[in-house]
Amino acid sequence: MRVIAVASEAYPLVKTGGLADVTGALPAALAAEGIAVTTLLPGYPAILAALGDARAIATPGPGQRILAGRAGGLDLAVLDAPPLFDRPGNPYTAPGGGDWPDNAARFAALARAGAMLARGEAGLARFDLLHAHDWQAALAPAYLAFASGRRVPSVLTVHNMAFQGQFPPETFPSLGLPPEAFTVEGIEYYGNVGFLKAGMHFADRITTVSPTYATEIATPEGGMGLDGLIRARAGRVAGIVNGIDETVWSPTTDAALPARYDAATLDLRAANRAAIEVAFGLTADASPLFAVVTRLTWQKGMDVLAEAVPALVAAGGRLALLGSGDAALEGAFLAAAQAHPGRVGVRIGFDETLSHIMFGGADAILVPSRFEPCGLTQLYGLRYGCVPVVARVGGLADTVIDANAAALEAGVATGLAFAPVTTPALTAAIMRAAALHGDAVAWAGMQRAGMRADLSWRRRAGAYAALFRGVIDG
Ligand code: ADP
Repeated sequence: MRVIAVASEAYPLVKTGGLADVTGALPAALAAEGIAVTTLLPGYPAILAALGDARAIATPGPGQRILAGRAGGLDLAVLDAPPLFDRPGNPYTAPGGGDWPDNAARFAALARAGAMLARGEAGLARFDLLHAHDWQAALAPAYLAFASGRRVPSVLTVHNMAFQGQFPPETFPSLGLPPEAFTVEGIEYYGNVGFLKAGMHFADRITTVSPTYATEIATPEGGMGLDGLIRARAGRVAGIVNGIDETVWSPTTDAALPARYDAATLDLRAANRAAIEVAFGLTADASPLFAVVTRLTWQKGMDVLAEAVPALVAAGGRLALLGSGDAALEGAFLAAAQAHPGRVGVRIGFDETLSHIMFGGADAILVPSRFEPCGLTQLYGLRYGCVPVVARVGGLADTVIDANAAALEAGVATGLAFAPVTTPALTAAIMRAAALHGDAVAWAGMQRAGMRADLSWRRRAGAYAALFRGVIDG
């Protein structure tokens, strides 16, 4: 089976979040299932630089070329279109913040190139299936639906329903779709153009990244306006939890760590903890060290955490936070660090290496998200013996076994889960974690139970492979 994946980022080439981790790791896991994946990415400067000796295989539009090559361990097709993608800053936002004003044109071009590739019209043989990731790729199933001839089936994976790619109706004529596409039974969304909505309508299957999130997006509270469409397509929607790439995320081999270790040598983590203390200006002691690695946004519950910082410090804890995002939240955490010197340390920015050291040395990773489609940092925490303290939502609920009395006694607890996402509930979870941390045997038991869990892509890739086969066989 040959699959063309369409995405706007892929680790290690370009990453702003969990989407890149998934699109970077899934192809190798699917290869083991006999599925060959070619990934179409935008020609951002970093991707073109990594591509090396690529060959041009098609010219899908004026000023556009599709290049084929290999980089980052991936078989790639790259949409080289300098007016659209040769810019500084983030894939989605201008350096000063704010979405690029032409995002509709940029990602429509990507999706259209994906559909051409899928149909064998862009220099590579026809593919058996197109796998679109998130709104940036979600028009591809629409382009396929309106193309003539034998239809290439498609699957849309929704990594986060909060990002929908909505644009004013004036955008529509530039998309190159027939007028009849602009209806409720198409890409129209409350009078606007909806990229994610279109993909959800036209894809043969919709997947999301955990079973609990799949049920949450079918409700008005979790569906962000698209729950009706999810309910209408029930039976075509599946939740498959993300895996982790163990060639990148394993404490036994991780080159970023000052000290590598396994479940039998947890005491070696002390050297990594010391590195965190230095990096974040924290006092060196045996008190519980909580870590946070995240986008600083409302989704991630960071305002709630900011309010819980005094209680965390009062409970004897320390906090090391790595993140960037909302200016107000950045300011709140920088102020917290000033107010609690030696107890709270903050790094504003995106730092892949430092994030690895944090999982390798901190006692617990805090993930108080209001909603979380899957979440990856709790999975990295599990793998690294960095006990997750999570909100009981979405993929967090599906991947962490709360340390209630029964789970502790059975030796299966892997973390702490709390609800609702409020300052008192988060504070109670932090205090519960601090108390458990004082019981060295119970804590090490939780660390080891987490490290034993199978978080690999192997099983998950099997689920994707079965779903793809089901779609192709009709
Ligand atoms: P989301 O995709 O919603 O941001 P996920 O938990 O699914 O959340 O994935 C986030 C990914 O980005 C993880 O690999 C996490 O380690 C990484 N990450 C987030 N913020 C930072 C940061 N400031 N520095 C380094 N890595 C980060």
